[in-house]
Amino acid sequence: MNTHHGGALAAYASQPESSRGRRHPEPTSPGRNEFQRDRDRIVHSTAFRRLVYKTQVFLNHEGDLFRTRMTHSLEVAQIARSIARPLGLHEDLVEAIALAHDVGHTPFGHAGQDALNDCLHRIQPGREGFEHNFQSLRVIDLLEARYPQFDGLNLTFEAREGVLKHCSQANARRLEAVDPGGVGHRFLTRTQPSLEAQLCNLADEIAYNAHDIDDGVRSGLLSIEQLQAAGVFDRHRIESLRDHPTLPGRRLLFESIRRMLSAQIHDVIDSTRRLLADHAPQSADQARGLPPLVSFSPGMAAGSAELKLFLSRHLYRHPQVQGTTDRAREVVRGLFERYFEEPESLPESATSRAPDPQAPVRQRAREVADYIAGMTDRFALREHERLTGQRLFD
Ligand code: MG
Repeated sequence: MNTHHGGALAAYASQPESSRGRRHPEPTSPGRNEFQRDRDRIVHSTAFRRLVYKTQVFLNHEGDLFRTRMTHSLEVAQIARSIARPLGLHEDLVEAIALAHDVGHTPFGHAGQDALNDCLHRIQPGREGFEHNFQSLRVIDLLEARYPQFDGLNLTFEAREGVLKHCSQANARRLEAVDPGGVGHRFLTRTQPSLEAQLCNLADEIAYNAHDIDDGVRSGLLSIEQLQAAGVFDRHRIESLRDHPTLPGRRLLFESIRRMLSAQIHDVIDSTRRLLADHAPQSADQARGLPPLVSFSPGMAAGSAELKLFLSRHLYRHPQVQGTTDRAREVVRGLFERYFEEPESLPESATSRAPDPQAPVRQRAREVADYIAGMTDRFALREHERLTGQRLFD
């Protein structure tokens, strides 16, 4: 059995020594395994730093204590690592995937993504739109420009596979055409990614359900009373109150969330252990050919789905959040139209990126989308104000 700093690695874990490698071969690094190197490259990337100023649910300027994409990514990494270790999965790979999973997010969260998607579809109906997972892959494969020998971060196959959580069939076919058997392949054969990738996907869900309750209450848009309708959370609130009858509001909230997180983490560990024992995969590749193995128990899966629905109804579709979302869409749409019609309106810092007017429409639209997707919330707002004179947010 192989070991790494976190503990014993299981046979079904991804092993850096048997990685499918990087797109551009590189010599190994003394003292660091290949997945550590991936993680380090992500931490030093520009796209990762930008996550500090990108919206999770609440816009960055709405308050200093709300989650941003950066703190969300750190929480996903924490949750994923605490599950990876007892299961014998590779913690460095898990950390790399978790830290990189959202680097393709546009400013203003899902509102920005929807707006860019509409813009691309309007210009080229039926052609590729905008998907944030696909964009995360573009960032790490292509858009980060910091190494002399290659574009992107040249991460291992395993890290890239984990970042591309979802992918449309059209984009999977595009990837497969240039890189047969690569990270697009599993969407065509409908097989699973590595167990580390499966874990990060679930850790993402655990993280946002928990922190959106916290941010929702902090913003005043959700109340603890309302949360009594959210079963999984309420069970832990009742238990917390039973153990600490005089606990004041904020602390009761934190304690309930803490207990809920802990219950979900232990549930994933237990349920995944059972599935691993049933299917007994002997390698990472064998695990890819099995049904998803990193999962909640059926009861917890239902509870988590219920929580997601609760948050969607009461927080994400709250009129106040919706109002911000509508204006955010307008900002992104406005920027896209302007840059696309008049490339000379791009800021000076981006003139090297001004699309070649002779390039095909599809390529020009994609370049503008890449540029906007990389923006932080406040840069996008500043640009929108510079170009339109309108101030949509105070
Ligand atoms: Mg996420």
